[in-house]
Amino acid sequence: MSDLDTTVLIVGGGPVGLLGAHLLGRRGVKTLVAEKHLQRLDAPKAHALNPRSLEICAAAGLPMDEIHAAATAPADGQWVQMVETLSQPAIGVIAYERQDDAVRALTPWPLINIEQPRFEAVVERALCGWPNVTLRRGLEWREGLQLGDRVISTLVDRTTGETLKVRSRYVIACDGAGSAVRDAAGIAMDGPDGIAHFMMIHFEANLRAVVAERPGILYFLFGPGLNGTLIAYDIEKTWVLMHPCAPDTTETAFDEAACRAAVAAAVGAPVTDLQIKGVRGWKMSAQVARRYRDGNVFLAGDAGHRFPPTGGLGLNTGIGDIDNLAWKIAAVEAGWAGPDLLETYEPERRIIAQTNMGQSLANAFRIRVLFEALGYGPDQTVDAQTFRARLTEPAARARVTDAVAAQKDHFDSLRLQLGFAYGDALREDDTLPISQFTPKCVAGARLPHAELADGRSTLDLVGPDGFTLLAGPAAGDVSALLRGSSAPVTLRVEGRDFALADGAWTERMGLAPGGAVLVRPDGHILAIAAAAAVTPAGLVELSGALSAYLATPLQGAA
Ligand SMILES: Cc1cc2nc3c(=O)[nH]c(=O)nc-3n(C[C@H](O)[C@H](O)[C@H](O)COP(=O)(O)OP(=O)(O)OC[C@H]3O[C@@H](n4cnc5c(N)ncnc54)[C@H](O)[C@@H]3O)c2cc1C
Repeated sequence: MSDLDTTVLIVGGGPVGLLGAHLLGRRGVKTLVAEKHLQRLDAPKAHALNPRSLEICAAAGLPMDEIHAAATAPADGQWVQMVETLSQPAIGVIAYERQDDAVRALTPWPLINIEQPRFEAVVERALCGWPNVTLRRGLEWREGLQLGDRVISTLVDRTTGETLKVRSRYVIACDGAGSAVRDAAGIAMDGPDGIAHFMMIHFEANLRAVVAERPGILYFLFGPGLNGTLIAYDIEKTWVLMHPCAPDTTETAFDEAACRAAVAAAVGAPVTDLQIKGVRGWKMSAQVARRYRDGNVFLAGDAGHRFPPTGGLGLNTGIGDIDNLAWKIAAVEAGWAGPDLLETYEPERRIIAQTNMGQSLANAFRIRVLFEALGYGPDQTVDAQTFRARLTEPAARARVTDAVAAQKDHFDSLRLQLGFAYGDALREDDTLPISQFTPKCVAGARLPHAELADGRSTLDLVGPDGFTLLAGPAAGDVSALLRGSSAPVTLRVEGRDFALADGAWTERMGLAPGGAVLVRPDGHILAIAAAAAVTPAGLVELSGALSAYLATPLQGAA
């Protein structure tokens, strides 16, 4: 038995755990990542990295060029095709999220598709640059004990069989949907489990000629044959077939021959260069953990929430979790925030998971409208004659076309991706369609993006190691706020330190020229002084908001 000491133990070296280690490492926090597998699994899993996740990656200093170089070709990743098989004309086509140039007015980083292991590899290379971060593969977390302000974890090295005791101030459970850390902490999951079951058949084939003029990232399969979904991470190489199956089906039922037959049925033609890479059972659930914290143990990513994949929000929500948590732990450890700051993690992030879970579930159910229009019965099957009639008889075909269009919200969720706020400021927006996103400069929201004169974004003005005060050109003397705060606060004044490419920033944000916005290290707005000039009273308000949030005493800013 050997002992290790660290400030943070991250259990799980999936995308959320790896990103967490990078975010902590760059802030100087000693971190150990324990990952039970010796090698990264090559199942491609998530494909969509949405704008907010990419903004977080950019703010984290990750190499965005490498992430984009590893991504699906944009021309292929822009469409969702509803088909009978890959070889047949589309029943309907929908744009996959907003990847057009117009979206660049709202975010510097439009959505991309990328195989999850490729994203993980980029993050892992980055975290290996931090001397205070250690990633140990083959190390499985077994149990933990909280003693005072320390957690003693027992882990097993799966290569040597050696048992290790790891002492840490914090444990972050990034060990996925089946989280052992969450179970050991006695945290229940709320919501339906096992709504649907699939065999995920990972295969390689060049299907460019088959898809011809119908490129897409997702192909939903309808009709009397195989129903399921094809995910085209790379049309010329990497695919997953989500094959529906009964709950008790095991991988043994899907041997090489069965997988080849299923792929051939989905493609609608023999696939000469087909290679089956792997098959794994997967159950769709819609659950959020009842708590995100147990003492100094925190849940992040799939350990805290499991969504249906309809929405592409699982990994993206996990990235938001770890971004929220990492700076807070670093702030407490650096001494500029009180430990109660960590109390804000669960109320801020759990409600986002509940919203995203609800939308993912609604998306999954909305597809039923299309099944009905295509003539499916209550047993979820359709005979060939009914199906063909629904596609040829004009009135029925019009219903199908409407049912395809009704799926639009499923694939255009910018408000969920960028328009969420910590706190109640944007609650009234919850009734709007999720495609409808208007950036708002309100407390809790992410700072709205605006292009700077030098081509960067206002998001690039936010530093990761403290708060940023963005002030209008006529703001008064704010030095008392800067002096009085326990946290590092960087002042950036419009006209002196930054300027928009077009127009005045204060006006764009709905502020008077003397107004100011106090931004958290994660790019969310903590407080706003909208007044004509930041007055002593406005300053007291900002300072009060800062010290209350950071759980530190007010040091007299007036
Ligand atoms: C087909 C498919 C498509 C998807 N598409 C999308 C999408 O487009 N967009 C999106 O946002 N999400 C998508 N998702 C969801 C996404 O894959 C998950 O949300 C994401 O993997 C969660 O990351 P994580 O790091 O929280 O957990 P995981 O990726 O599950 O990683 C957990 C890690 O913890 C390790 N581990 C587990 N137990 C232990 C232990 N006891 N000790 C040490 N290590 C342990 C595991 O080996 C694993 O490496 C998709 C999922 C699937 C299956």
